[in-house]
Amino acid sequence: MSKKVPLYIDGEFVASKSEQWIPVTNPATQEVIAQVPVATQSEMDAAVESAREAFKTWKEVPVSERARVMMRYQALLKEHQEEIAETLAQETGKTFEDAKGDVWRGIEVVEHAANIPSLLMGETVENVARKIDSYSYTQPLGVCAGITPFNFPAMIPLWMFPLAIACGNTFILKPSEQDPLTPTRLAELFEEAGAPKGVLQVLHGNKEQVDFLLDHPDVRALSFVGSVPVAEYIYRRGTENGKRVQAFAGAKNHCVIMPDANKQQVINNMVGSSVGAAGQRCMAISVAVFVGAAKEWIPEIAEAIAKVRPGAWNDEGAAYGPVISPQAKERVEALITQGEKEGAKLLVDGRNCKVDGLPNGNWVGPTVFSNVTPDMEIYKTEIFGPVLCATEVDSLEDALELVNNNPYGNGTSIFTASGAAARKYQHEVEVGQVGINIPIPVPLPFFSFTGWKRSFFGDLHAYGKQGVRFYSETKTVTARWFESDLEDPAGPNMSINL
Ligand code: NAD
Repeated sequence: MSKKVPLYIDGEFVASKSEQWIPVTNPATQEVIAQVPVATQSEMDAAVESAREAFKTWKEVPVSERARVMMRYQALLKEHQEEIAETLAQETGKTFEDAKGDVWRGIEVVEHAANIPSLLMGETVENVARKIDSYSYTQPLGVCAGITPFNFPAMIPLWMFPLAIACGNTFILKPSEQDPLTPTRLAELFEEAGAPKGVLQVLHGNKEQVDFLLDHPDVRALSFVGSVPVAEYIYRRGTENGKRVQAFAGAKNHCVIMPDANKQQVINNMVGSSVGAAGQRCMAISVAVFVGAAKEWIPEIAEAIAKVRPGAWNDEGAAYGPVISPQAKERVEALITQGEKEGAKLLVDGRNCKVDGLPNGNWVGPTVFSNVTPDMEIYKTEIFGPVLCATEVDSLEDALELVNNNPYGNGTSIFTASGAAARKYQHEVEVGQVGINIPIPVPLPFFSFTGWKRSFFGDLHAYGKQGVRFYSETKTVTARWFESDLEDPAGPNMSINL
């Protein structure tokens, strides 16, 4: 019998009464390692009710005490980083190094949340009129919710609940049903860090549970990370219901390679950023745009990518793990087949990949296409597999036109030795996160994660100052204090301008 993943409701890890359970499988073996429940209506109601009640007291807890919970949480996550990474690696297939990175990037957000007192500071102006002062406060919203994808089961939940809760809100997390064990461990450690009962709830399930959160009048704000169609749906339904919504979606990230770039650096960076994590990163480089003579490096890049191989999470020689499910493998392989049919040149073919001793894993080998054009499906679709599409243009202007015509705007990078080319690219590119000689420019948590276009639906981005604003309201006070009755001798004040 595989273990049953508990719900976390009202400060208790409870066994669900659901009759519907979803198997959680190890993607390297297909072994069922756990069963995750589809929460029942009364369990969902109980989670919101508890979060609503907990908000009444949590919002009154002094901000420095809230910060201290985050400090203890940060220390606990660091202490348990390897243990969490091991669980994470087994349910996602990620290599151990990559799994530790997933946890680490989340820990950095908790560190940021521990700075909450200064992040919540408002503004003040004295004497906005005679003897009148104005000042603003940042106050929490109430119950917030988060819906997370499979590809970063530690980092992405940690983008959300620590900051929301540090701001004084309570939070309901609905993690991906494909890897719920890591988020459950995050919740256990959060409780151990001293988070009071009800401040965090974890509800498992799928669309039905998400729809419940989207429609519940007590949920004030909703953060989502996942695929484009679901992000768009969640943004629309949540905002129609009057909620604040931030929805982070899919991507097609281009790396522009100028002929003056350092060739060896380009080769090394292209390998990790395209096929690392089996290409299942929203910031993976999936399109390499070679400008002018840089195209001559394509065979060497393909050769370097062909040398890496997938393998088990604890195989130190493996560059990356399996894709998340047999369906994901089938989808990626079908796209490779389609790319070949549409006329792209398949330089490295990752289909029918085998890994010794693990015949049932969802393996996709490293794959490289050249001669890719914008009309091809492999260019238009987020493949979310270890596949690099190489394309060629004549100039930096042509590269900018290509990238700017793409509907996504999550991340991009340029490799060059020219400051002028880099400056032009960073200024003119219509993408929210830009790397210069850095392939995957994910901002650290004191900035915000700022995807654009169809990679993001909303206004305020994740973490950083924008994350704090997303999870809070601003209250502006205008105040006058009379020193005596004689101060405003003119009688009733009729001159208020609205
Ligand atoms: P997904 O959209 O299938 O699932 C994400 C979450 O939404 C899960 O919790 C799932 O249970 C829920 N969900 C699925 N279908 C739903 C529906 N019809 N209605 C309501 N909820 C639904 O995404 P995934 O496959 O888990 O994750 C991969 C995707 O996430 C990729 O497209 C990737 O680019 C994207 N992603 C984006 C970012 C970013 O910051 N922009 C970061 C990580 C992942």
